[in-house]
Amino acid sequence: MSDELYLKSCPVCDCNKVAPVRGYEEVYLHRCERCGFHFSNRIATPEELKIPYAKYSRSDWISPITLLRYQELLGYFEKYRRINTILDVGCGNGHFLKVALERGWKVYGIEYDEKAVQMCKNKDVPCHLGSILDFEAETQYDVITFFEVIEHLFYPKEHIQKAYRLLRHKGAIYITTPNLHSLSGYIVGKEIHDFFCYPEHVCYFTPYTLHRMLTEVGFHKVYMKTTGIDIFYIRNRLAKNKGLDSQSIRKERENFRHIISHNQLGKLAYRGINWILTITRLGDTIKALYVKK
Ligand SMILES: [Zn+2]
Repeated sequence: MSDELYLKSCPVCDCNKVAPVRGYEEVYLHRCERCGFHFSNRIATPEELKIPYAKYSRSDWISPITLLRYQELLGYFEKYRRINTILDVGCGNGHFLKVALERGWKVYGIEYDEKAVQMCKNKDVPCHLGSILDFEAETQYDVITFFEVIEHLFYPKEHIQKAYRLLRHKGAIYITTPNLHSLSGYIVGKEIHDFFCYPEHVCYFTPYTLHRMLTEVGFHKVYMKTTGIDIFYIRNRLAKNKGLDSQSIRKERENFRHIISHNQLGKLAYRGINWILTITRLGDTIKALYVKK
């Protein structure tokens, strides 16, 4: 089709030497020859994008352990609190911002989904319907967060550049995204319909490519971790156990997180494993905190 749009250069380093990855043509996977970044080069149409996103759960339940993690993270963000403003890009139902609001922050969210925007408003969390690119801010921000967002973007660098402009001098950006080079991926292999889920996920970062993009925009590293290894997912993949649906796996995982967080030995083991995963850069999730220079 002549009206289809394809990226001609790498979204991270702008190099035009990009090559298709053999075996992954179905998800239009390409690799940049200069920086090694992997991405789907075909821009999905708005109609195509509606299909996977319509399946997103708009249940307002949130795990107590996730809430605890939000508290810990916001505790860490205190050192960046100057003008008292925080912006969450792709804020979903607004749970993170609600916790921030309760801690006294002036919060703002950005979300593409109308229902989610309404759910934020029901929590007294103001929210812009759309993208950061069309967001007109009335203030600068101390902290901008992107939780599991950048892997969905065809032009991630433009979004990060906009965040850079919205941050105050020495303000912080916090990003989480799946790690292409994770241990789980090496163990179970990366199946097209699992890890590479086009058009939902289109960018596949590693600690190296994420660092490269952030520093090219002008950010300075505070820390970059890779944490987590999903033993339930690995077990079910290896056993080819089709009996357990994703809901059951999620429940198992949540029970496991509960046990770990209420047991001293469990907490210690959890920290030890995450430390090793960070050293080896093999954790499932990249967590990056950078500041505007
Ligand atoms: Zn590149």
